[in-house]
Amino acid sequence: MTTMPSRQLVLLVACGLCLARSAAEAQRPADTEVWEPVPPVVTAGRDGAPPSDAIVLFDGSDLSHWRAADGGEAGWRVEDGAMTVVGGTGDISTRQGFGDVQLHIEWQTPAEIESEDQGRGNSGVYFMERYELQVLDSYENRTYSNGQAGAIYKQHIPLVNASRAPGEWQSYDVVFMAPRFAADGTVLRPAYMTVFHNGVLIQNHVELRGPTLYIGEPAYESHADRVPLLLQDHGNPVSYRNIWVREISGSP
Ligand code: MG
Repeated sequence: MTTMPSRQLVLLVACGLCLARSAAEAQRPADTEVWEPVPPVVTAGRDGAPPSDAIVLFDGSDLSHWRAADGGEAGWRVEDGAMTVVGGTGDISTRQGFGDVQLHIEWQTPAEIESEDQGRGNSGVYFMERYELQVLDSYENRTYSNGQAGAIYKQHIPLVNASRAPGEWQSYDVVFMAPRFAADGTVLRPAYMTVFHNGVLIQNHVELRGPTLYIGEPAYESHADRVPLLLQDHGNPVSYRNIWVREISGSP
């Protein structure tokens, strides 16, 4: 076996180090700086106010951005800066359709407890009129975990239960990414949701398997790129206020 003289070995290693160092030195900090595009300026809201580029869907004054989901005027009550479900008047939908959005919504279940399980403060925020983020009084109120507050109904259990007591205002902040369909209706990409409940992360970029169903296994069916947001009338007088969305642009 032949061995390399140690002097030659030392020279070889030193030369290798030298080359690596000179390659690194050839790079300047500016080589990795990206100056375009310049992010547009958005003024963040203070004390719960929406950011400057938000589409305000309810500011406490009227239901002008809403209609009954099955047509006609929305039948919910507006009072004291909030809108409240009037049981039996039906779900309400936004007049405008949305795709990928950031949503802020505040909600309150009745202070007076009248029922239990799914019958206690039940409502829901439906993205694209078919993907439900559950609204429920889940404060010391056991129900099936994939149907409690913050569940993507019957698909994803919330990571934690961040519920406040009945009668207290709560919030959801959501990133909803709409599904993408090919022209032949096949799913190119499923829907995703990230949810904060009262500022606490409860859904971390979860993948939806299709519309959220009461019975059976979900399956996607192709739909429009933009579909209204819907709030559920489940018969309980749940209230909402301070609802706004920001359309997310720039995602494929
Ligand atoms: Mg519901």
